[in-house]
Amino acid sequence: MTNATLESIALNIATVRARMVAAAAQAGRDPAGIRLLAVSKAQPVAAIEAACEAGQMEYGENYLQEALPKLDALRRRQELAWHFIGSLQGNKTRTVAERFAWVHTVDRERIARRLHEHRPPALPPLNVCIEVRLSDEPNKSGIPPEEAAALAQRISAMPRLRLRGLMTIPPPAKDADAQRLPFRRLGKLFDSLNAQGYTLDTLSMGMSGDFAAAIAEGATLVRVGTAIFGRRAQEHS
Ligand SMILES: *Cc1c(COP(=O)(O)O)cnc(C)c1O
Repeated sequence: MTNATLESIALNIATVRARMVAAAAQAGRDPAGIRLLAVSKAQPVAAIEAACEAGQMEYGENYLQEALPKLDALRRRQELAWHFIGSLQGNKTRTVAERFAWVHTVDRERIARRLHEHRPPALPPLNVCIEVRLSDEPNKSGIPPEEAAALAQRISAMPRLRLRGLMTIPPPAKDADAQRLPFRRLGKLFDSLNAQGYTLDTLSMGMSGDFAAAIAEGATLVRVGTAIFGRRAQEHS
C-alpha cells in the first residue's frame, strides 16, 4: 500500500464516524450506542495498523486462512477485538473459538455447539450473533427469521457462548427506503426476542453502502470495509 492510501484510512474512518453520528442524530438516537466494525478482509496488516493509529479497535475478518497471519502479526495489540464475520464450516470452529472474540455468522445449532465445545475455558464466553436470512435468495447463509427463536434458546443453554444479538446481510436495494425494509424486519425480530426474555444488545447490520439506513432502523454495530479501506483488489476463500 502506498503512504497516500494509508493516510486516507484515518480520514475515511473520521468520515464514516461523522456519517454514523449524522444518521444517529436523524433517527434521534445516541451515537454512543453504535459501534463501528472495520472489515479488514483482503487488507494487509499495514492498513489495519493505520486504522489502529486512528483509534479503530474492532476488526472483522471473513476468511480464516487469511486472518490468522494478521492476528499473529498484531498480537501485541491486545486491545483489539477480532470478529469473525465469514461463513463458518465445522472444521474451522476450533480455531475461530480460540482466536476470535465474536462470531456474527452462527446460523445452525451444530456450529454453535462446536464453538461452545472449542471455546477455551481460560477465555471469556465467545460473543455470538445469529445470522438471519431475510430474503429467499438460494444459497445464501443465515437462518429463516421464524427459526431464530429456537436457535436462540439452544445457544442460551451453552455457557461458553454469550448470545449478543442478530446479524443480517440483505440483498442490494434500489434506494434508501428499500434498504430500510430488511433492517426494520431484523429490528422487529430483535425486539420480539427481547420481549421473550432475552437480553440481546447487538443488531449487526449495515455495510458501506447502507449503514445509514441500518442506523435508522436500530443498528448497534455497522460492518464497514470499502468506505474505510477502499476497494478490495481481490478476495480469497
Ligand atoms: C465484506 C463484508 C462487509 C463489508 O462490506 P463493505 O461493502 O466493503 O463495507 C460487511 N459484512 C460482511 C459480512 C462482509 O462480508
